[in-house]
Amino acid sequence: MVKDKYRISFENTVYDRNLEIDKSISLIDKLEKERSLSLEEYKYLVENLNKEVFDYISKKARIIGDENYGKDVYLRGLIEISNICKNDCYYCGIRHSNRNCERYRLSEEEILECADEGYALGYRTFVMQGGEDGKFEPEYICGIVRKIKAKYKDVAVTLSLGEYDKESYQKMYDAGADRYLLRHETADKEHYEKLHPKTMSFENRMNCLKDLKDIGFQVGCGFMVGSPYQSSATLAKDLKFIEEFAPEMCGIGPFIPHHDTVFKDEKSGSIQMTLFLIAILRIMRPNMLIPATTSLSTLDNLGREKGILAGANVVMPNLSPVKNRKKYELYDGKVCTGDEAAHCIGCITNRINNIGYGVAKVRGDYKCLNMM
Ligand code: SF4
Repeated sequence: MVKDKYRISFENTVYDRNLEIDKSISLIDKLEKERSLSLEEYKYLVENLNKEVFDYISKKARIIGDENYGKDVYLRGLIEISNICKNDCYYCGIRHSNRNCERYRLSEEEILECADEGYALGYRTFVMQGGEDGKFEPEYICGIVRKIKAKYKDVAVTLSLGEYDKESYQKMYDAGADRYLLRHETADKEHYEKLHPKTMSFENRMNCLKDLKDIGFQVGCGFMVGSPYQSSATLAKDLKFIEEFAPEMCGIGPFIPHHDTVFKDEKSGSIQMTLFLIAILRIMRPNMLIPATTSLSTLDNLGREKGILAGANVVMPNLSPVKNRKKYELYDGKVCTGDEAAHCIGCITNRINNIGYGVAKVRGDYKCLNMM
């Protein structure tokens, strides 16, 4: 039973929605059965979200999540290794042209210290995330991955360091990196080009994702919900892309504007739509690893809990040195930037326990359905 405080609110509407509700529910049932919908069907679902449909889908998503991962929520220790980036994505607070961003790059020693602290706290996955910092040659990243993996045999290392060529990704994989996160941002080329400068390429982003998958990484893609110029048609393309690409992980969170970006005056994305899309993803790919993102809890104090109740099964508390956290501000108001790592894990564990789930201190790999 979901406690009232975790319920999602919807505006009241006065017209008769029975037909739309019936159609949406039959599409959700079809998605559960076939794990696939057409572009038009995904678009219909996105355009006809309401309370009844949300209640139906989130209940179903939770049941499917529980069947696959039980009541376990996997922890990932996030180490933000650099906020230096050569790119200029229009939505990002650490974009290259933001002169107000105070830049930092963790030393190898600092990164390894974060991993040591995280291991002692029970983390068994470390996510090394950073901007596209030109100093991060593949060999340098490989050296750190090797050291972490040599010291801790039972951990997984996830990299989230942007675009490289296939040969570089291969080196990272050979060094022991297990997973790679690279948000596709949007599966619509025109939309991609409205969110990024001409120096960045939609095709290259998609090729990178394909290369990562071909190499054998557990791959994560994802996108922001409510980004400027997003529409029900582009969201439908995102869902269809995820269905066909079949990633092991997918991270989505609401768009939140940053005051030093091109999109500073844009509205934040919707919590309800984000949760609805999480539930669709859980039903589409029952075994996918889906994080309840920090951006969800930035817009809603109970956002992480609501994400888990909608089908997410991963949280990524911050292990970065506290002195650097505020500098890794991708969007305004990012939460959990002032707390020590030990505090973060305690807080998150309590929050997860309060909704009847538990933190699993294991690697938390993707479960291949054929092996279950
Ligand atoms: S979103 Fe990533 S690639 Fe784009 S500017 Fe920010 S850190 Fe750099």
